[in-house]
Amino acid sequence: SCGICVGKCPFDAIEIINLPQEIQDDPAHRYGENAFSLYGLPAPQEGRVTGILGPNGIGKTTAIRILAGELEPNLGRHDDQPDWDDVLEAYRGTELQDYLADVRDGNVTVARKPQYVDQIPEQFDGNTRELLEGVDERGALETIVERLSLGPVMEQSIADLSGGELQRVAIAATLVRDTDFYFLDEITPYLDIGQRVTAARLIRELAEEEDKSMLVVEHDLAILDLVADTLHVAYGEPGAYGVVTSPKSVRNGINEYLAGYLDNENMRIRQNPIEFEEHAPRTETHGDVLVEYPDLTKSYGDGEFTLAVEGGQIHENEVLGVVGPNGIGKSTFANLLTGNLAPDEGDADLDLDISYKPQYVTIDQHMRVDAFLSSITDQFGSSYWNTEIAQPLQLERIMEQNLSDLSGGERQRVAIAACLSDDADLYLLDEPSAHLDVEQRVQATSAIRRYAEQQDATVMVIDHDIYTIDLLADRLLVFDGEPAVAGHASPPQSMRDGMNEFLANLEVTFRRDNRTSRPRINKPDSQLDKEQKSEGEYYYAP
Ligand code: ADP
Ligand code: ADP
Repeated sequence: SCGICVGKCPFDAIEIINLPQEIQDDPAHRYGENAFSLYGLPAPQEGRVTGILGPNGIGKTTAIRILAGELEPNLGRHDDQPDWDDVLEAYRGTELQDYLADVRDGNVTVARKPQYVDQIPEQFDGNTRELLEGVDERGALETIVERLSLGPVMEQSIADLSGGELQRVAIAATLVRDTDFYFLDEITPYLDIGQRVTAARLIRELAEEEDKSMLVVEHDLAILDLVADTLHVAYGEPGAYGVVTSPKSVRNGINEYLAGYLDNENMRIRQNPIEFEEHAPRTETHGDVLVEYPDLTKSYGDGEFTLAVEGGQIHENEVLGVVGPNGIGKSTFANLLTGNLAPDEGDADLDLDISYKPQYVTIDQHMRVDAFLSSITDQFGSSYWNTEIAQPLQLERIMEQNLSDLSGGERQRVAIAACLSDDADLYLLDEPSAHLDVEQRVQATSAIRRYAEQQDATVMVIDHDIYTIDLLADRLLVFDGEPAVAGHASPPQSMRDGMNEFLANLEVTFRRDNRTSRPRINKPDSQLDKEQKSEGEYYYAP
């Protein structure tokens, strides 16, 4: 043995020297000899929201299957399945003892929201009302439908819903069930900030008011911070092993994760910390003007929706963040820029060549990833392309897979690569953060930024993850108005002015964590919230 593990080396490999402490104990589960092992388990608690923060492929689903009673943990003894009494013995004295005893006795019922809501239409044939009424065990449907603004789609067929609508239907379908344990695997993809905050509040209320155990996996850190009472960090080597830490406070858990170092575990999980700029950065861009557009308007139908855009300039070499609620006209504006749509008013001779990554990534032909990407760029495989695109987007490992077999996060990374690999005047990425874990968001963000700088490219990024926007954008294009009725776009502005306009619309302020400077949502009506609102500083508080 290498002297680090007490038992058998989980990898049969002696050269691994940086094995975490937890691995000295037996795993909770191992799928087979040399197969994936999971160390530690999250501990759901009544009346509390437990969060899990960590990369994809690290064993979160395995852990949930154990907690749901679907998978009997084998404590690493895959050739000699231990019985439940052995398992309970192994967890005696831990937070999990009582919970696992209930699982053994068949006393735990579970409601679960899947990670990829795009697959729901394949599994359910009917309309929203039929789906939700079929699972409304708590009689809470009316309230939840209203809070999540699902009223307008109740009679609509599930097959016709947008991703954001499906996400809210899936959250509603989970929260109206009457079970002991609720597991939600990512609540934010395709939702705007207002909808994210509402979903987080509904989850908190179910824990607090009904004394339920809630477990949430989430990669939007501002929302994870808001929703969870306690946090397990998960780390390891995707596909090889995963470790779920003991519970930490949410603040410490997120801070340690961002710092790349877990204090109690004495474990480095990343070389460099992820850092946020405390002061409004990059007030001016210096690139030449790529396009100057005049005031524009565009309506659909008999004016059911009207968009009014104030004229502005987009610079070469900048990353322009685009923020605003769903249904406010962001995609419509993009189509005006490409000339796909003609404005009703405003003389824009815009025929920009745009490379566009849509919000809902639909590349699922039967084609390998490498074949697909090499059909887009003759740079494919060059050392430049490998360093700037393939590596940061972690494409090497999936090059030989079929597009149709990719997970949501893998598909997202391929789509970002495809978008950036095209030759265009303007790169427009709609919600690149969806389904990426925090590591992948940070790497995708730096790939996009570097690409803009080195190729003198102009990039517009629509995203609802405030940390992603913070890390990415030089300036902001803010949309406001009434979704599905009337949208308005201000000219592009500095980060400080843009964040202030955007967050004032939402009535949300952020403070800074004093250890890491990361932005944290203030409690509504707290002292800081009131002060910052009266000073008009919603994000970069002095
Ligand atoms: P996550 O939910 O964090 O993405 P999972 O728990 O789904 O991770 O999977 C963790 C690892 O376990 C993956 O490498 C996966 O391939 C492997 N795995 C999952 N289920 C099985 C199984 N039934 N047999 C063998 N390996 C499995
Ligand atoms: P966003 O990108 O901000 O989510 P969109 O520009 O996609 O918003 O849509 C704004 C509004 O216009 C929505 O209410 C949408 O339903 C409506 N809309 C979009 N495209 C069309 C269309 N081709 N015909 C009619 N209404 C449309």
